[in-house]
Amino acid sequence: MRIEEIKNVCTACGACASVCPQQCITLPMDAEGFYYPRIAHEKCVQCAKCEQVCHCLNEQDIRAEKHSYYGFSKDESVRTASSSGGAFATLAKPILDSGGSVYGAAFDYDELLLRHKSTDQVSLSELQKSKYIESEMGKTIAAVKENLDRGRRVLFCGTPCQAAGVRQALGDGENLLICDFICHGVPSAGIFQDDLRGKLRKNEKLIRLDFRPQEFAWGKDDKQLMLETTSGKKTVPFYLDAYYKGFLTANAILRRSCYACRYRQKHLSDITIADFWGYKAIDPSIDDGKGLSLLVANTEKGRGAVEQMQAFDLHEIDNRYSDYAFAPKDYAAGWKCRERFFAVYRPGKLKKAAKKTYLKRYHIERLKYRIKKLLHRV
Ligand SMILES: Cc1cc2nc3c(=O)[nH]c(=O)nc-3n(C[C@H](O)[C@H](O)[C@H](O)COP(=O)(O)OP(=O)(O)OC[C@H]3O[C@@H](n4cnc5c(N)ncnc54)[C@H](O)[C@@H]3O)c2cc1C
Repeated sequence: MRIEEIKNVCTACGACASVCPQQCITLPMDAEGFYYPRIAHEKCVQCAKCEQVCHCLNEQDIRAEKHSYYGFSKDESVRTASSSGGAFATLAKPILDSGGSVYGAAFDYDELLLRHKSTDQVSLSELQKSKYIESEMGKTIAAVKENLDRGRRVLFCGTPCQAAGVRQALGDGENLLICDFICHGVPSAGIFQDDLRGKLRKNEKLIRLDFRPQEFAWGKDDKQLMLETTSGKKTVPFYLDAYYKGFLTANAILRRSCYACRYRQKHLSDITIADFWGYKAIDPSIDDGKGLSLLVANTEKGRGAVEQMQAFDLHEIDNRYSDYAFAPKDYAAGWKCRERFFAVYRPGKLKKAAKKTYLKRYHIERLKYRIKKLLHRV
């Protein structure tokens, strides 16, 4: 089956595992720390359902005209518990009020991994906020289908490629609302897990993790990795953290498919959300440092859901103000850095490999940060 042979494009949406009638597909983590489908060939009956459902092997087109908006939740607590302006939590509210189910990514503090879960399993607040780690989809698509078959409304939120997998597998039913976000790329879950294990002392347990702590001003200096453990709290700016920097600026530890992402421009979701960096082109005073969301409705269903958002300060804008979010990105240098990085990376030795590849100025940056701290500039 071809799903095992498309490693550079597979996005681990898990549609193949969800439809397999033999239940013979799993998505274990590979040596680089990403999930990929594996078939138990002795059970496979060559039905090819996995190939028929795969969004990588069956490209879809988009139909509707898009509509752009920006805004933020009027509820301060929603806004502070979100990464941008709280669009995701606001979209979730009517689905939950109707007895439906909301899917997103929740961090597992025991296994130190990110997994797609629903509000039937975890609270909405556990799904909120960006976690810059690949999330394990497993058989999420099968679980979403089960809910839809029972007549429940479902909101699914994930990366554009996960959303494409959901769309390809489950179509466009009235009860299914698919939301994705503008995505820089997903970094390795395995590297994050190994690095975190190394940071924790014996008997120390992680209790909170935040890639965008709310005490730092949105868009200015909020890219910080905050780890709260049973021994205390530590916050490190992204440029001093080997994982965060490998993800955000070096592009060295992203999933293979991210380097030629098929969904940067083409979103198969109903709604795409993002940080609204485009506010500067409209009016810089819109930014109050608490977070702004960009929302782009890609379908009429998405447009209806956005325009019905309650307790959200919503403004429709010309599409030219959202164009920046869909601009092509060149990850060629990142790919080369990735090759150099994985040639020297050994599990649990992230900083060592980073210092040999993309973190060469680490000591200078750390010194500059310490001086700034002494001068109370951070
Ligand atoms: C890996 C990653 C890269 C991103 N890159 C960009 C970017 O380049 N530009 C930009 O403007 N915005 C980017 N975002 C999106 C942005 O950070 C906000 O998540 C988005 O604006 C939504 O904010 P919110 O306040 O509406 O909701 P939030 O409360 O922040 O909700 C975020 C939603 O995304 C889900 N989610 C979180 N982490 C993951 C994950 N790893 N995989 C799948 N789903 C996840 C959550 O479960 C929730 O449904 C990225 C997010 C992630 C996770």
